[in-house]
Amino acid sequence: QMAPVMTIDGPSGAGKGTLCQLLAEKLGWHLLDSGAIYRVLALAALHHDVELDAEAALVPLAANLDVQFQVEGEQVKVVLEGEDVSRTIRSQEVSDAASKIAVFPRVREALLRRQRAFRQRPGLIADGRDMGTVVFPEAEVKIFLDASAEERAQRRYKQLQDKGFDVNFERLLTEIRERDDRDRNRAVAPLKPAEDALVVDSTSMTIDEVLVTVLAYAEQQL
Ligand code: C5P
Repeated sequence: QMAPVMTIDGPSGAGKGTLCQLLAEKLGWHLLDSGAIYRVLALAALHHDVELDAEAALVPLAANLDVQFQVEGEQVKVVLEGEDVSRTIRSQEVSDAASKIAVFPRVREALLRRQRAFRQRPGLIADGRDMGTVVFPEAEVKIFLDASAEERAQRRYKQLQDKGFDVNFERLLTEIRERDDRDRNRAVAPLKPAEDALVVDSTSMTIDEVLVTVLAYAEQQL
């Protein structure tokens, strides 16, 4: 029997990352940060001078992507071709590039097996845009975590500032809106709640309130 999966989908900055880390800790389950895979692929494209709109060239890059996720205590180190890129992949340039390469069906297809391989005992928390709709449609628990664009830009602003990035709020809000539009309106695996997902609007909730809500729901479903 397959290990159980809990999918957490939603737009950027809704609090998925923090929620998923807390859930994984609390349940002792594995964690898949699928966005990191798209980000690493985007970075590899930038490194290897592959155009971000060249689907045919991106597919082999995706299929052969040499990426490792190394768990170090509470942190996960992201390693591309032997280099620690944990910080680099969080830049605005890479965020933007990731959402551009993510529109291509064959690129997404090439990353499917890699993502499904994370499903291992005792269970998996899967963080992304299409975890409940495409990658794990049979997941036991599906959550769609949303929040207003302003609130999400505000949170991302704080997060990036804390990490030492120099950021401009208005620019961040514009970029979040553009990235969301691209994620919601693409033809393949667009960002949208699965039909059987619980939609949680975190705009005026604390992370603890979100965690309690999700855990209570998960307990019912598992
Ligand atoms: O979640 P994160 O912001 O790290 O994802 C970066 C980008 O990767 C997203 O804007 C989206 O375009 C893409 N992505 C995706 N499907 C996923 C996860 C991320 O298309 N499951």
